[in-house]
Amino acid sequence: MPKNLYGLTLERLQFELQALGQKKFRAGQLAAWMYQRGVHSFDAMDDLSKELRRRLSNVYSVEPARLIARLNSPSTTKYLLDLNGARVECVLMRHDYGNSVCISSQAGCAMGCAFCASTLNGLERNLTAGEMLSQVLYINDELRAESSKVDSIVVMGTGEPLQNFDNLIGFLEMIHAPYTLGLSYRRLTVSTCGIVPNIDRLAALDLPITLSISLHAPTDELRSRLMPINRTFGLEAVVAAGGRYAQRTGRRVTYEYILIGGLNDSTEQARQLANLLKDQLANVNLIPINPVVERKFNRPTARAIKNFSEVLEARGIGSTVRKEFGAEINAACGQLRNQQSI
Ligand code: SAH
Repeated sequence: MPKNLYGLTLERLQFELQALGQKKFRAGQLAAWMYQRGVHSFDAMDDLSKELRRRLSNVYSVEPARLIARLNSPSTTKYLLDLNGARVECVLMRHDYGNSVCISSQAGCAMGCAFCASTLNGLERNLTAGEMLSQVLYINDELRAESSKVDSIVVMGTGEPLQNFDNLIGFLEMIHAPYTLGLSYRRLTVSTCGIVPNIDRLAALDLPITLSISLHAPTDELRSRLMPINRTFGLEAVVAAGGRYAQRTGRRVTYEYILIGGLNDSTEQARQLANLLKDQLANVNLIPINPVVERKFNRPTARAIKNFSEVLEARGIGSTVRKEFGAEINAACGQLRNQQSI
């Protein structure tokens, strides 16, 4: 079987080419074709000699993500992609300030959160750094055809990125590198359910990315019911880790809080949340819960959303209500899975 070069780092490509007796700089040419020009056939790489192209195609292949299904709404496109046999969804959101892509870090998810579709079938496997890159590049290749590009990335799709730490960092480094999209770290956001030791590992790398922490409840009792990970890393430990992250990187941490009608959306709970986050360099992103057919949770009322955010505001905690993207095509937060959810 030919070895797939797509998704390899420049260093790995150099290694492969040197093994064929080629000069290192050829790897840069290959990377530019694959990652910046969307060319997936050796034949078309016309700054490589015919002889080299023939040798490459004997040993290697270039296999980007394969599209299984695509769903469009006016501002959002959801893609179901095949990545070396694993199926994952990713989402393009067209904001007025640019194109943002939400990618998956794992096929399936082991975290078992009560409100989320991604975990219904458990974890299938970790994605490699190259497979995370492939999701972004699939969408970037499409955007190139409209003379556009990917401007920012959120790792908020299926999976827990901090449970796939090394691949996540490999991906962040690759998407930042000039041989791919060269995106500034400030345009990258990683969301976690709160794996404390790995929040600290991430902080130690001191990359200026944005960290989002999924909180969703202001007490351990309720959070443990909604998010099993809370039995391992409780609220206080998670928020303390967020504090260390902010201190180390100087970056404001975003706390995500799904509002579920009648469960965690009272003004008393808003006060508890404000207490928990006082003294933190943080803001709160309120997410009215998106429906998942297998789950029975209520949407919050407009009044509850307003009251909740006013209580936070009055206590000096900035909050935004997440603009809903893609719920009509089941592409919103918590609705992604590894099958056609249509
Ligand atoms: N595992 C990481 C990355 C997934 S991010 C994390 O937990 O942060 C997905 C975001 O969508 C998280 O904030 C998650 O809690 C939220 N989410 C999950 N299910 C949802 C639902 N039904 N409605 C709204 N948001 C949801």
